[in-house]
Amino acid sequence: MRTIGLLGGMSWESTAEYYRLLNELTRERLGGLHSSRCVLYSVDFAEIERLQVEGRWDEAADVLVQAAKALESAGADTLLICTNTMHKVADQVAAAVGIPLLHLADTTAEAVRAKGLHRVGLLGTAFTMEQDFYRGRLASHGLDVLVPDAAGRDTVHRVIYDELCRGIVREESRAAFMAVIGDLVAAGAEGVVLGCTEIELLIGPEHSPVPVFPTTRLHAEAAVRHALGHSE
Ligand code: GLU
Repeated sequence: MRTIGLLGGMSWESTAEYYRLLNELTRERLGGLHSSRCVLYSVDFAEIERLQVEGRWDEAADVLVQAAKALESAGADTLLICTNTMHKVADQVAAAVGIPLLHLADTTAEAVRAKGLHRVGLLGTAFTMEQDFYRGRLASHGLDVLVPDAAGRDTVHRVIYDELCRGIVREESRAAFMAVIGDLVAAGAEGVVLGCTEIELLIGPEHSPVPVFPTTRLHAEAAVRHALGHSE
């Protein structure tokens, strides 16, 4: 079994899900008392969030590069950045280590393609919905990516940082997300990428008329396949 390196804490609410999923999926595959061999480096998210807001992405990249190197030194064979947003600096992180990075947008796009879909809505932080590092990566797999209108993007971004990253799950916010998803479907989305690792704490398949693509679960599944030497 390969050792999975988790670059987490962004936020720890979703990193805890990664840890649970990696262990559950490993037990499902191997049975008995098997669990995931993994190493976690968890950052202080307040520091990262401040750098995001101030647009100091190179400094944020430095923090993640140091963490990634520490994971490699600790024996990780594979690297996961446990947040969609911080894939903005994925190239810098990947270049600093000798182990492969499992890119979250690639994993997600492959899952969408495997379902035979090609036009998807994307929910995530404003950085993820509005900048090219994530949308462009999805598009490079042949996907057509729709994002909510400005008011919808605002709601989704606010709920992520003010609620989900703080462990707060509100019915009212779920209803707001469902309305945003409804608009995306009306605009032609055949599926919805939950492109922020906390969104699946709020939204499940039962909250959407079209398939949802939960990025934390998809990333964990890909990591376990990789760690166990299988590909599907
Ligand atoms: N976990 C979130 C994501 O997947 C947002 C937190 C962050 O800014 O990293 O994008």
